[in-house]
Amino acid sequence: MSERYCVIGNPVAHSKSPAIHAAFAAQTGQHLVYERCLAPLDGFRATVAALAAAGCKGANVTVPFKLEAAALATALTARARAAGAVNTLTFLAGEIGGDNTDGAGLVADIVRNAAFAIRGQRVLLLGAGGAARGALLPLLAEQPAALVIANRTPASAAALADAFGSEGVPVTASTFAALAGPFDLIVNATSASLGGELPPVPATVFGTSTLALDMMYGNKPTLFMDFASAHGAIARDGLGMLVEQAAEAFALWRGVRPDTAPVLQQLRAPS
Ligand code: NDP
Repeated sequence: MSERYCVIGNPVAHSKSPAIHAAFAAQTGQHLVYERCLAPLDGFRATVAALAAAGCKGANVTVPFKLEAAALATALTARARAAGAVNTLTFLAGEIGGDNTDGAGLVADIVRNAAFAIRGQRVLLLGAGGAARGALLPLLAEQPAALVIANRTPASAAALADAFGSEGVPVTASTFAALAGPFDLIVNATSASLGGELPPVPATVFGTSTLALDMMYGNKPTLFMDFASAHGAIARDGLGMLVEQAAEAFALWRGVRPDTAPVLQQLRAPS
């Protein structure tokens, strides 16, 4: 019998997760059903309780419920605790496991799909929200030479630099204006692209071999990607990260790791 999983969000109609997990299931011969679940903005907890009671085995969590999911989980992985946010719930007898696969997905996309080794490189992380927080531990585990965090609200960048400064890599905070580049890897974890805006980074952060990844994805490059390309960098969107974080969740739930390359290729194919 097929086991049930879903993605919980509000809104959730746009989510590509059902298509990604269906492709993983077909590829690995796993019998599962993966659906969208729209939770009322004030009804995340009740939605999770109903899903678990109905025998659902796990759920991905998207905007705006990742923080609530972290509070609801009864057992958190170290990376979920560090992120303060959960995007993957596993319903076990009497327990709700909470994990955060976003950062691991980001790193897998950079290292495997973009073939960019982070070790020894200068990394710039833009933003200090949930996505930036989730990215930090997995990025630092790759042992970059240094990591700089820049955020619109400087105090949040400083707080993150303090919190993640003991992982054996120098982590510092900067304002956008004071950034001194070029950097080897730049990750845009701000939500500026969602509103069609550009985080105010100076063009000097980009070099000709800089990989500039925007966590946002859509059917055309973001302003940040265009700006990075115009200054010689290699621009990349967040679609690979999305597929990789899904693969990480799939492996956690099913004990089988899917091959992400054909799924990413399928999603990138013009429809
Ligand atoms: P949050 O709301 O938690 O954080 C938003 C961050 O963006 C804050 O640091 C905020 O700064 C900054 N910001 C917002 N607007 C601007 C602007 N106009 N200029 C500069 N900085 C700005 O969002 P998340 O961290 O959850 O998400 C960030 C992005 O990552 C979104 O685009 C999301 O879609 C994407 N994402 C992609 C994933 C994927 O799989 N590809 C997975 C998860 C997230 P301040 O602190 O000053 O408010």
